[in-house]
Formats: sequence, structure tokens, C-alpha cells
Amino acid sequence: MLNEKCLKDYIVTATAADAHIRAFACTTLNMAEESRRLHNTSPVMSAALGRLMSAAAMMSIMMKGDRDKLTIQIKSDGPSQGVTVCADSHGNVKSYTPVPDVIVPARSNGHLNVSGAIGNGDLIVVKDLGLKEPYVGRIPLQTGEIAEDMTYYFAASEQTPSSVGLGVLMNRDNTVRCAGGFIVQLMPDAGDEVISVIEENLRNLKSVTEMLDAGLTPEDMIGEVLKGLDIHFHESYDTAYKCDCSRERVERALISLGEKEIVALIKENKDAEIHCDFCEKDYVFGPGQLKEILKKSRELSQ
Ligand SMILES: [Zn+2]
Repeated sequence: MLNEKCLKDYIVTATAADAHIRAFACTTLNMAEESRRLHNTSPVMSAALGRLMSAAAMMSIMMKGDRDKLTIQIKSDGPSQGVTVCADSHGNVKSYTPVPDVIVPARSNGHLNVSGAIGNGDLIVVKDLGLKEPYVGRIPLQTGEIAEDMTYYFAASEQTPSSVGLGVLMNRDNTVRCAGGFIVQLMPDAGDEVISVIEENLRNLKSVTEMLDAGLTPEDMIGEVLKGLDIHFHESYDTAYKCDCSRERVERALISLGEKEIVALIKENKDAEIHCDFCEKDYVFGPGQLKEILKKSRELSQ
């Protein structure tokens, strides 16, 4: 019983209690399904990537600069060997995991065991905001279920008390049935009364997947989390799975390898294949094209 509105991926923003509370919610079914399709992920990895992509999508619109970029990386010792998602400030998100086909037994309640695939490790957030140095926040994983880890990240690294809910529900055929989440944050000077209301709401809240599967929109989810408060909805933003790689970019990367490396590629006398881990595209450069690249590299180093 999916809501029509959830067929399109988007993020909605809201404030409440005189802007002492801000909230984000998203539906990312298409994004999560595109990630699953591209990487051919097992259900548990579809969920891991889908959850982290929802978080990245909502965080991407917290960035203000046109060219700002965000990377969230989990470096961990579980069978997945970690996951990486990247987002720009326009809601374009992409994902990567080195081991997409991890199988771990489901939990006794039938839920996917994401922390079993992730294991122990760190969550690292890198924000390139166009400054000299990127912002880097690093926290130890709390549960490896991702939502709790993001909640801890906001508190420990950004000093913003938050509650994060993320969910991905799979169909029987292992495609994505629904995906999305919410982030609610306390701004400085949020009153105790307001905090109690939200805490009570969160205690009684259904899981993100239950809400989405029941047809709730991102606006409805914010309505549940902030029930009893005066909610003001602000802009909504499109979000999608989109890789920003291109032949030009790959060529620039090859040129920057330097003369020695490029000569070595040419000597092999075969096509050089460069693979993009985020969209699984292969860029092929024949010997003739490599010679052109060598020429450009020499020009650059002069
Ligand atoms: Zn790509």
C-alpha cells in the first residue's frame, strides 16, 4: 500500500517550537533500488547502503554551498569490509561497498542483521565545504545498525542532540520495497517541555519501514515525530542516485598519473580499463588514446 507520493524520492524539511527543533525526512525507494541494481547487493547490504544513503541525502541539504560535498564512510571489520556513500549539495547520492553479496543470518525476529554485516569500526564523515581543509568527524560505531551511529555522530561530533531513524524494507524478490528516514535535531535553547514531547513521540514511534510501508509520506513521518508541536514545513528537495563520473574526469585522472605510469600502460599494448566503483561503468582507453593522454601529461608537466 505504497503512497503515490513515495514513488518519487524527495526530502522535506521542517521546523517546530519557534525553530528550536528542525527536522528532515525522506523517501528514497528509487535511490536504494538503483544502488541494489547497480551493485547487485544482497538484502542485508541493500539495507546497509540504503540506510546510509538516506542519512547522506538528508545531510546533503544541510550543506549550503553549491559545490559542497559529503562523504560518509564506515570502516569496519565485518564481512562487508565497510561501506561508503557520497552526496553533493543537490541531493545526488552514490554508494559503494567492496563486498556487495554478504550473507548473514537474519535476526530471530526476521529482520535483516545489518550490524552483523558491518561489524565493529568507525564512522567517518568528511564534508568538503570549499574551505582550505575539509571537515572530518570520526566516531566509533555504536551498534553498526547505522541510525544509532548517526545519532551518536551528531551528538559527539557536531554537538547537536539528534534522533535519527532509517529504514529499508525488501520485497520477497529482493528488490527494495521502501526506503527512507528522518533526522530530528534540537537547536540551542530548546525547552524541556518540547524535549519531553519529542521523547514521548519517539518512544511510541513505529519503525521507519512500518511507517513507509503503511503509506506514510516524509511529511507524515515528521508529523508523527513532532506530534503536538506547531510544525512548519519548508522546502522539499529532489534526491536521486547519481554518479558524477565522466570520461573527461577519468581522462584527467589518467593524465595526473604522470608520464612513467602512462608509458607503462602503453607498453602493455592493450586497452586500459578504468572502472567506476559507484556506478559500475567501465571506461576504456585504447593505445591511441593513451598516447594522446601521454602527450597531454607531458604538456602539463612542462
Ligand atoms: Zn561512476
